[in-house]
Amino acid sequence: MSLSPELRAHALAAKGFMPPDEGDALYDAAVAAGAALPGLPFLEVGSYCGRSTVWLGGAARKCGTVVFAVDHHRGSEENQAGWEHHDPTLVDPRIGKMDTLPFFRATIHDAGLEDVVFAVVGLSPLVATHLHTPLAFLFIDGGHGEGPARLDYERWTPLVAIGGTLAIHDVFPDPADGGRPPYEQIFRPAVESGRFRLVGAAGSLRVLLRVD
Ligand code: SAH
Ligand code: MG
Repeated sequence: MSLSPELRAHALAAKGFMPPDEGDALYDAAVAAGAALPGLPFLEVGSYCGRSTVWLGGAARKCGTVVFAVDHHRGSEENQAGWEHHDPTLVDPRIGKMDTLPFFRATIHDAGLEDVVFAVVGLSPLVATHLHTPLAFLFIDGGHGEGPARLDYERWTPLVAIGGTLAIHDVFPDPADGGRPPYEQIFRPAVESGRFRLVGAAGSLRVLLRVD
């Protein structure tokens, strides 16, 4: 079972970084997690313009749950002016800073997911400190620097319920393929902790089950 063609078209229409096959794998993993732990919510760290969020929102709707979509909407380091992944159309000219929130809202509105996807606009580690709900599904795709990735690992992964799922994006075991922090600061510590077991992969997406 995969995301409906209508919703998939909305995901693909959004700016962002989630390749379609990895989005489909994300959807499948979230649906499985939602079925395993009915009633528990999903949470995404790093929503940008809502592309991956549509796959997660579709999965949440199917499972009768919701998605908290956490992002400060000011962009990661590599999204800032002068960096590789900068998009000048996402800058708020009034303040000269990135603002992806209007684009995120448009994506979620157009996909008809406003009753399922709730934006939480703020700094990921600080939001995590004050949020205590057990999660069926956690997707980490936020700041990819060493510090932000480590903090996301430390503050968010304890919320994954036993039997729930942790998905991580941009995991590159071979340094030739991409940046290190999601692999070194999130994926490896999760597996080495003994709390998570690798159960799936697609592209740079890794899916881990919380076992302990
Ligand atoms: N999942 C998205 C891509 C996310 S890009 C997709 O499918 O296209 C990473 C996002 O993480 C950016 O929108 C950035 O604003 C957000 N981010 C980075 N560091 C953050 C932090 N410390 N707190 C909140 N959001 C953060
Ligand atoms: Mg990513």
